[in-house]
Amino acid sequence: MVKAEAVHKSFGAAHVLKGIDLEVAPREVFCLIGPSGSGKSTFLRCINHLEQVSAGRLYVDGELVGYRQKGDKLYELRDSEVALKRRDIGMVFQRFNLFPHMTAIENIMEAPMQVRHEPKAIARARAEKLLDRVGLADKANGYPSQLSGGQQQRVAIARALAMEPKLMLFDEPTSALDPELVGDVLDVMRDLAESGMTMIVVTHEMGFAREVGDALVFMDDGVVVESGHPRDVLTNPQHERTKSFLSKVL
Ligand code: ADP
Ligand code: MG
Repeated sequence: MVKAEAVHKSFGAAHVLKGIDLEVAPREVFCLIGPSGSGKSTFLRCINHLEQVSAGRLYVDGELVGYRQKGDKLYELRDSEVALKRRDIGMVFQRFNLFPHMTAIENIMEAPMQVRHEPKAIARARAEKLLDRVGLADKANGYPSQLSGGQQQRVAIARALAMEPKLMLFDEPTSALDPELVGDVLDVMRDLAESGMTMIVVTHEMGFAREVGDALVFMDDGVVVESGHPRDVLTNPQHERTKSFLSKVL
């Protein structure tokens, strides 16, 4: 579903991703961990067309991200082409980013109606199902300010799912939540994983990575230091940098 080949990203003189190679299989829950500033968000943003890679190749579902290949030449995609591709990828951020002036259900209906021009009744029916799925059927008409952080994050997940993405990216989805609200969000993510969704999850929740993850990558300073099955990496890290990081977060 995702393949990175020697992916580099620089911002001016700042070399942030320094040759990332990895593969995410369909239906896999792929966890990405690493210290702050190691390039995790930048990598997700490249997958989601929010940043253009500086060198290397990045593929989503077999298609090159950001470029069209013709013969041996690469052409940058037009904005309209990028917009089409982004529809297939759902992203959930640390901050929930719901539209504050819309109710929970309106937030979920918005993209299908605006982007896909779906009739309101169809968008509403799907949104109701999704709210039920994230355990918030009774909050359909609540505004974000009336919901807890955990509830807002579950609405944000439902909103991303409303576009029926083939890949979901989570960037520290529980880091901004009070500890007692984290579990409900992780439960929703666990359900989603069990339903077969391909997920890349940047997280500090090592319990989630161990129990739900199929693969784990430890990144530091723009490189993949270590990768493997979460249980192996977490219980038997091979590299000093991994050991040192895990000793701080476990
Ligand atoms: P992480 O998510 O692992 O904490 P980030 O991907 O957010 O790391 O950031 C990695 C590095 O890239 C940081 O040093 C950050 O300051 C830098 N960076 C990220 N985005 C930009 C940008 N738009 N312009 C300049 N530097 C950036
Ligand atoms: Mg980040």
